[in-house]
Amino acid sequence: KQHQKSGNKVNKMFGIVIVSHSRVLARSLSELAAEISGKNIPIAYAGGVEGKDKSFGTDATDIMETIESVYSDEGVIIFADMGSALLSSETALDFLDPEKGEHVYISSGPIVEGVISAAIQCGIGSSLKVSAAEAEASLIQKIEYLKKDERTLAILSPLRKGPPSMSASETISGAGEKKAFKIRNINGIHARPAAKFIKAVSNSGCRVEVTNLSKGKGPVNGLSLNRLSTLEVLEGEEILVSAEGSEKSVSLFFNNIETLINDNFGENDKDDAEKSLKINSELFNGGIVSLSEGIALGKAYLLDEISLNTAREKSENTDEELEKLKTAVNRVKSEIKNSVNKGKRNLPADKMQIIETHIYLLDDPDLIEESIRRISEEKLTAASAWSLSSKDIVKRYENLTDIYMKVRSSDVKDVSSRVLNCLLDKNKDPGEIPEGSVVIAESLNPSQVLRFDPDKINGILITDSDTTSHAAILAKSLGIPALGGYEKTSLIKQDQMIGFDSSSCEVYLDPGKSIQKDLLGRKEILCKKKLELQKKGSEPAITKDGKHIMVYANISSLAEAEAAVKNGADGVGVLRTEFLFLDKNSPPTEEEQYSFFSSVFKKMEGKPVTVRTLDIGGDKKIPYMNLPVENNPFLGLRGVRIYDDYIDLIKIHIRAILRAGFENDLKIMIPMISRYDECLKSYNLINNVHKDLLEENIQHIWPVEIGIMIETPASVIMAYELAGIADFFSIGTNDLTQYLLAAERGNPDLAAYSDPYDPSVLRALRKTILAAERAGIEVSLCGEFGGDTRAIPLLIGIGIQSLSMNPFKIPEVKEAVKNVSVKDCSEKIVHVLFKSVSPLDVKKIFNI
Ligand code: PEP
Ligand code: MG
Repeated sequence: KQHQKSGNKVNKMFGIVIVSHSRVLARSLSELAAEISGKNIPIAYAGGVEGKDKSFGTDATDIMETIESVYSDEGVIIFADMGSALLSSETALDFLDPEKGEHVYISSGPIVEGVISAAIQCGIGSSLKVSAAEAEASLIQKIEYLKKDERTLAILSPLRKGPPSMSASETISGAGEKKAFKIRNINGIHARPAAKFIKAVSNSGCRVEVTNLSKGKGPVNGLSLNRLSTLEVLEGEEILVSAEGSEKSVSLFFNNIETLINDNFGENDKDDAEKSLKINSELFNGGIVSLSEGIALGKAYLLDEISLNTAREKSENTDEELEKLKTAVNRVKSEIKNSVNKGKRNLPADKMQIIETHIYLLDDPDLIEESIRRISEEKLTAASAWSLSSKDIVKRYENLTDIYMKVRSSDVKDVSSRVLNCLLDKNKDPGEIPEGSVVIAESLNPSQVLRFDPDKINGILITDSDTTSHAAILAKSLGIPALGGYEKTSLIKQDQMIGFDSSSCEVYLDPGKSIQKDLLGRKEILCKKKLELQKKGSEPAITKDGKHIMVYANISSLAEAEAAVKNGADGVGVLRTEFLFLDKNSPPTEEEQYSFFSSVFKKMEGKPVTVRTLDIGGDKKIPYMNLPVENNPFLGLRGVRIYDDYIDLIKIHIRAILRAGFENDLKIMIPMISRYDECLKSYNLINNVHKDLLEENIQHIWPVEIGIMIETPASVIMAYELAGIADFFSIGTNDLTQYLLAAERGNPDLAAYSDPYDPSVLRALRKTILAAERAGIEVSLCGEFGGDTRAIPLLIGIGIQSLSMNPFKIPEVKEAVKNVSVKDCSEKIVHVLFKSVSPLDVKKIFNI
């Protein structure tokens, strides 16, 4: 940093920081100020992109470091030129140690006169307060001086509401005219439209004022860019324009303004927005969403069995059976309610009614009371009683003559069989699915997907539509094509032929020969493309300007480790360990875990592996752990929060990890950190396990790098402090997005909120990265966002150094990295961070 020190006196003086878009300007001004002050004052400057003279821009990190370079207890005063320089300065203050931040002040004084006044005051030993006031008032002298100048007065007249200049031929229209306009361009009157507006005002020679009628702001002078901007006119808002001048010029002016506004100020915002909306709706294709890329063709395999048959069994424990019945009925009811909620946006009203009637069917007193009677009087088990009572009802419907009522029997069968499956705890074994199947289900849990054999299963078609559910994440990393949001799964018959293309969200029931041929053709092309990319997969991902971005895999099984190697992963960014614990009746032993982790290291052939400690909770429940039933599981006992209550289990887990890490490239990562003390505690826990192993003379890795997931808003806000403990950060955008936008991951009604392109998420990323950079620790991103090839330029621009994703995405992501330069990407980031208010704005900046 260009800091001119002055021996012992430096600490007694406050610091001055100049922030300009132009580094040359900032440097010259600092030299001038130092010269005029005649003293060695602590003055430093920031500006330009990447410290280069000819690239204009500002960067919060640069500013922050500059502040630090002149910081003393006397404080620092910042002079910034305009726009993003001010925003970046404010951001820099946000990232400063709060204690220091209190002593740093951004001056609203003019940059040149202000800096000079402050430098003089600083040189004579004045306090920051006195100097700041002096700097703020530094234009007064200039204004007073120029006021005396008639020529200046004339030039300033339009701005000062003086009489407009008129040619002799024009007549004055005393009253002027007012007109209201609705603004239709998507970003409203931002800088470019405002500039065009001003040009029209200035060409007209009229005196113009503008009011934002929708917000009740104004009036402001129509010639002032700054003032127009402060009106914050957004799309859809109304402005009132009043113009004074000759009749002719006023009418000409309004004509021009009308044309400008109707033409959206020459911007194609509307088109772009509509295009993007169209693309979005096509992608959703009636609520269907791609969960995992690919093309599927095969026979339907219904995971949810529809049968009302079960053996007649008795039980003397009437109360228990009654309770079981109540629980099963309530569970199915709440599942139905959930799917009603999910379908609300996409399903036609008649389809919705069918689903809703299923709830009423379950309330049918005949069905319920008859089942209760059978349990209490005939001493039948809940399953037997329910089976008999529902069969009676089905028969009753089947015997009706009205054809419409007759078909209702299938609804009763459907809904009753769900209750029966619940009572019998009858889940089909996912490992037994025949080769070439397309699995059909309402929803899947992660443990089911984990048991799918990717070589046997051609595809997955489900009603659930959460793209970041762990079931979807697993399907993706197993390379099984999957579609979600398909509401008609209950109408599909066992072995019915099904085809789909998850990139276009097309679903075919009983596809004809030509469609089958077409799908297989598309599949072949896709496979070829993937194979070609896979061949280059092991090459390093280096940007055009030479930055090496590490591309890791997110895995949870050996099959995925294999896929990671095949696709050229530079290592494993997240080994999700919870899947070792799912789908079992008791926790895995230390030896089981040790052997699994060791096999992963072996498979990864010496590449680095980051093992994430157990992240149970949310959508990953373990029956034998008896975790409480929670209203908001994602806001409940999740990840690190359960460690205290399950300390023995966690210690065994960490022992296995540390042991397997011996002579391997291991890092450990802790999930769901939201508090500083929680982070400290976890580090102590790992340290204690290390001490135990040491005492027992058991080989294990030590020291080991321990990092944390940044996936709660609290961890972002505390990132600087947490970086003091953590050896690295990994940003989990799946959870971070849901927590930042308060939009539950699995709730399809909130799909629009679950968007990592939201500027709030991107600002959180930037804040985390800055904190990590300051602390000198590595930061990577491991949410699903990292595997979105469209987001690569954005993520590189924002400062991500490594990415971790589902293994099948690695070759494409590496290719995307090779096609961009950090410089180009980071130039656009200022706009993303400071000028975007919606995901659409962000996508527009990166042409997504
Ligand atoms: C995340 O939250 O982004 C993440 C990678 O962790 P998980 O999806 O396992 O919650
Ligand atoms: Mg997470």
